[in-house]
Amino acid sequence: MNEFDFIRRYLQRQPSDSDVVLGIGDDAAIVRPQPGYDLCFSSDMLLKGRHFFADVAPEDLAWKVLAVNLSDMAAMGARPRWVLLSAALPELDEAWLAHFCDSLFALAAQHGVALIGGDTTRGDLVFNVTIIGELPQGQGLRRDAAQVGDDIWVSGRVGLAAAALNSRLKNCVLPPEAAPECEAALLRPIPRVALGRALLPVARAAQDISDGLAQDIGHILKASGVGAELWADSLPTLPALKQHLGRAQWLAYTLAGGDDYELVFTAAPEHREAVSVAAEAAGTQVTRVGRINGSGGLQIVDAAHQDITLTSLGFDHFG
Ligand code: ADP
Ligand code: MG
Repeated sequence: MNEFDFIRRYLQRQPSDSDVVLGIGDDAAIVRPQPGYDLCFSSDMLLKGRHFFADVAPEDLAWKVLAVNLSDMAAMGARPRWVLLSAALPELDEAWLAHFCDSLFALAAQHGVALIGGDTTRGDLVFNVTIIGELPQGQGLRRDAAQVGDDIWVSGRVGLAAAALNSRLKNCVLPPEAAPECEAALLRPIPRVALGRALLPVARAAQDISDGLAQDIGHILKASGVGAELWADSLPTLPALKQHLGRAQWLAYTLAGGDDYELVFTAAPEHREAVSVAAEAAGTQVTRVGRINGSGGLQIVDAAHQDITLTSLGFDHFG
């Protein structure tokens, strides 16, 4: 099988989307956005050894490659529509690629997303997805929109993926009852697309948590020129994990672990009910974990309102 057989056999599936004017097979793809919508673009790259283990199952890898990009659309409140996939592959292993592509197309179908192009080259397992979504004109959950007095909310649960990663790195031992959920969080994060879209008329600022909650919320604070108080013991967790891990470890994974792909967002207190309705409609749990204030910085406190200091706020590739 050569590069072109691979593209034809595995990637050139009929786009189910009528807004794809020209899909895979030409020099470039053509899509037609709906009138009245803005286009929203993002890309995310995953490298072997940096973002995933070399022995990861192709199904899990494909899921994550696409899910992290869908998560960026979720964080904007956008409807994901089209993706481009660039892949550096060490070889064209048909069985591996069949599993990879089946998983990729299954997740894409779940979200009504069409693969419209990309690039394939030989290399040591790198994937880059570019995703394009639609937003009603002028709307979008931006990082610079938080206001003093806003509630801070988090979707799902945080710290599970970091716990699984650290268990693999032998930094901690997971309690057996928590291990499967932590592993799933690491390998198959669920992009909160429905929640993001439901929050579009309700929330102010939002972002997805990829590098650690404390660091990622810091981006909202900086962009919005505000500060915040974050209630560490209100953070949604897996109770078995919180009980089993040491306090410092639990705090580190939950506040600074990363790879959560949950949404952190702010909304005015008068919208509490509307946030709950949106979360229910999206089938995703949300938890109120803090408050935006005018302090200009991030203060993390425990249940007794004592300050918590972290040695690291999150992951930085060059930190
Ligand atoms: P070009 O030489 O013009 O870059 P290619 O031969 O690289 O074209 O690709 C041929 C077609 O296959 C293009 O439509 C391209 O978008 C698509 N394609 C190549 N690699 C991928 C991939 N990994 N995923 C999706 N589409 C791909
Ligand atoms: Mg090319």
